[in-house]
Amino acid sequence: MSIKRRIALAAIAVCLSVPAFGQAYPAKPITMIVPFAAGGPTDALARILGERMAKELGQQIIIENVTGAAGTIAMAKLARAAPDGYTIGIGHLGTNVANAVIYTKLGFDLLGDLEPITRLPANPMLVVSSTAVPAKTLKELVDYLKANPDKVSGGTAGMGSGSHLGALEFNKATAAKYQLVPYRGTGPAMQDLIANQIQVMVDQSSNALPQAQAGKIRAYAVTSARRSPAMPDIPTAAEAGFPMEIAIWNGLWAPKGTPAAIVDKLAAAATAALAEPAVRKRMQELGMDLPTANEMKPAAFAAFQKAEFAKWKPILEAAGVKVE
Ligand code: ASP
Repeated sequence: MSIKRRIALAAIAVCLSVPAFGQAYPAKPITMIVPFAAGGPTDALARILGERMAKELGQQIIIENVTGAAGTIAMAKLARAAPDGYTIGIGHLGTNVANAVIYTKLGFDLLGDLEPITRLPANPMLVVSSTAVPAKTLKELVDYLKANPDKVSGGTAGMGSGSHLGALEFNKATAAKYQLVPYRGTGPAMQDLIANQIQVMVDQSSNALPQAQAGKIRAYAVTSARRSPAMPDIPTAAEAGFPMEIAIWNGLWAPKGTPAAIVDKLAAAATAALAEPAVRKRMQELGMDLPTANEMKPAAFAAFQKAEFAKWKPILEAAGVKVE
């Protein structure tokens, strides 16, 4: 074959492959990194969402639990992944805002090295205890904690996790403390709470509510401004005498440099997933608040993350929470 003919053929091949490659995303399964243990609230959200997003995208979504150090190991792995849309990560207020304040020597930029894709539902938190704790109201629980300062331990998913932020807010509202035991997620912590290996937890409603409804743990208060329709019998913390408000919102991120068209496609798939009536119903039953379609746009989510960072930075610095 002549050189000219070879060049011509190669040029045709390039012309054919470029648009085909662009249109083909996703051409293979997508990995979604989950920064906490299986069976916990982040994992549960990832699985409900991932299944629906996979249908929208026409590709499988593989869940990979990368646990430890309150999600920082997972986010480091995500930041280092190829920015091609085939590795994304789910995270929350703790992993992608609080940790940026708390962990000062991560070796990567938690805010700058990740691309916000979309905002996901928020969970209010429930103040819960094992059924062995002799308290029936939040006031009785606070009195019990104050009377037994060294005996009571509570679970968290590590410094900076949602359950740790919940514990900090609980301490601010009640002046009661408990010893914090770190887990790889509140899924395993919940099992220990049920077994009274630990006694208390401030955990996300999606993890705690089903166990409270089954009578396996006791729920004292919800950390939202109003009672949740999913749990009308549980008073707000303010109604129970100790005002505290915190919700753990979730989101999806990609490595920095992921093409905008891919980020948009993933955000659109998540938005379509959350518009599904069955998905909405399941999340609302777990006490979650769903974001609007506008709040789920990548730019709106990036602005929201920035605003949350500005809000939480002084709170965490005042609490003196730092990990070097
Ligand atoms: N979201 C964590 C988990 O899934 C718990 C936490 O942040 O407290 O286990």
